[in-house]
Amino acid sequence: MRTPIIAGNWKMHKTIAEAVQLAREVREAVTDVSGVDMVLCPPFVALAAVEDVIANSKIGLGAQNMYWEEQGAFTGEVSPVMLQGLCDYVILGHSERRQFFGETDEGVNKKIKAALAHHLLPIVCVGENLEQNEAGETVEFVGGQIKAAFANLSANDAQKVVVAYEPIWAIGTGKTAEPADANLIIADSIRGTLAQIYSDEVAQRIRVQYGGSVKPNNVEAFMAQAEIDGALVGGACLKADSFVAIIKGAL
Ligand code: PEP
Repeated sequence: MRTPIIAGNWKMHKTIAEAVQLAREVREAVTDVSGVDMVLCPPFVALAAVEDVIANSKIGLGAQNMYWEEQGAFTGEVSPVMLQGLCDYVILGHSERRQFFGETDEGVNKKIKAALAHHLLPIVCVGENLEQNEAGETVEFVGGQIKAAFANLSANDAQKVVVAYEPIWAIGTGKTAEPADANLIIADSIRGTLAQIYSDEVAQRIRVQYGGSVKPNNVEAFMAQAEIDGALVGGACLKADSFVAIIKGAL
C-alpha cells in the first residue's frame, strides 16, 4: 500500500509573516490527521520560519526548486547542501520552471540525483501541454519525461521519488483532467514506463500525485482512482481551510 501524499506548492506567494500564519493554521487543523503525508512548500526565504512552526508535527517541509551543484559561483541559486536537514522534500521540474526558466529534462535528472544524494525526497513534475494533449501525444511525451527523469537512477533511489502528473493546461486554470483519464495516463506513461525501466514491483511502490486545479470538491474523485496517490496543490493550498479540506478528502 502506498501512503497518500498531499503537497502544497505555495509558488511565489506569502511573505515570511504570512507564511508563518498559514503554517500555524494548517498545523492546528491537522493535529488529529494520520494516514496521509502532508507537505508544505513555501518560498525559499520562508523555509526556516515555517520549519519552526511545524517542528515536531506530522507535516513535512519541501522546497520548490534547487540547483544540482553543492556550492560555487551560481548567483541566485540554492544548493542541496543548504536544503539538507532543513527540508524533507524538493519539487523538481515543475512546468513553470521548465516554461519560464528553461529547465530541461537533463537538468531535472541532475537535480533528482543531487537531491537524493543529500537525503531530500524529490517531487518530480511531468505533464503535457494543451497542444500535445489535443494532438494525442500525451502518453508518449509523459513517458519520455519519465525516462529522462529517471535516467541512471538505481531502483532503490527511484522508489524514494514522488512523481506529480500535472497536465499543464490544468494548472491554475480551474480545468482538471477527467480523473479516469489521469488514471490511465499514470498507468500507461508513468507506471508503465517505470515498470519497463525497473520492474512492476518497483513501479508499484512509487507514489504518483495528480496536480492541476485540485480543490476540496474534486480531490475525492482523484483519490478514488487506483493509480493516484495524492495531489500537488497550487492555488487551493494558499488558504488553510481549503488545503486542510483537501488533506481530509484524501483520507
Ligand atoms: C501546481 O502549481 O503544481 C498546481 C497544480 O497548481 P493549481 O493547483 O493551482 O492548478
